[in-house]
Amino acid sequence: MIYLKSESEIDKMRIAARLVSRTLAEVAKEIKPGIETGKLDRIAEEFIINKNARPAFKGYGPKNNPFPATLCISINEEVVHGIPGSRVLNEGDIVSIDCGVEKDGYFGDHAYTFMVGECDDKDKELLKVTFESLYKGIDEAVHGKKLGDIGHAVQQHCESRGFGVVKDLVGHGIGKEMHEDPSVPNYGKEGRGERLRTGMTLAIEPMITRGTWKVKTLSDNWTIVTADGSNSAHFEHDIVVREGKAEILSTFDYITEITKNEILETQYG
Ligand code: MG
Ligand code: MG
Repeated sequence: MIYLKSESEIDKMRIAARLVSRTLAEVAKEIKPGIETGKLDRIAEEFIINKNARPAFKGYGPKNNPFPATLCISINEEVVHGIPGSRVLNEGDIVSIDCGVEKDGYFGDHAYTFMVGECDDKDKELLKVTFESLYKGIDEAVHGKKLGDIGHAVQQHCESRGFGVVKDLVGHGIGKEMHEDPSVPNYGKEGRGERLRTGMTLAIEPMITRGTWKVKTLSDNWTIVTADGSNSAHFEHDIVVREGKAEILSTFDYITEITKNEILETQYG
């Protein structure tokens, strides 16, 4: 069941989403070759708790194997749900950092893929195309359009440039729960699926690879990797469907102030 939010609920969601944005920027300050992923996780957790919020990923999932950390840190061929720990980042890695918070009963869930030092040109293109596809999807998240229009826009942008679109994992509704209806696939057909309505709040999150769309799960039962070992990128925003143009609740602005990454710049007003 899709739950439409009131403006006062959206105000709370904007606060939660922007807390995630600020958390990602705190992490961005420390991303460099040699840093342990577990250290990045501790920085994020402390920052969130100091803002009187709760890291929403920690403890999420099955009781016998809950996710143990504040961030999902997924390096290179890891697509999503990588567990932070003693692994260190190396020059040339690409690293997806995904973070969720609960603040005053509402959730934010938002991700960015960083370059560690200088990356190869094909990885830069992967990041650029994935980033662009997120905004192509958001452009479709308008009252009166269909859910399939979002997925189609993402898929068309990435596949036409030779990249793989992960299908086993999808975006989702978000609000009072981290994962609400509907599912928001990164593939689809124009004009198909649920009609989008003002007040729908969605997490749109293309997961794109340099190779196959197929993925597998590692033995930790969390980390998702590409089946062919190709590198993968992931960007995620929380948005509200509105008339004419979606509102993006999260922002990459705080990150860009740190990274000064000119490859990834949006013109989204
Ligand atoms: Mg996420
Ligand atoms: Mg998500």
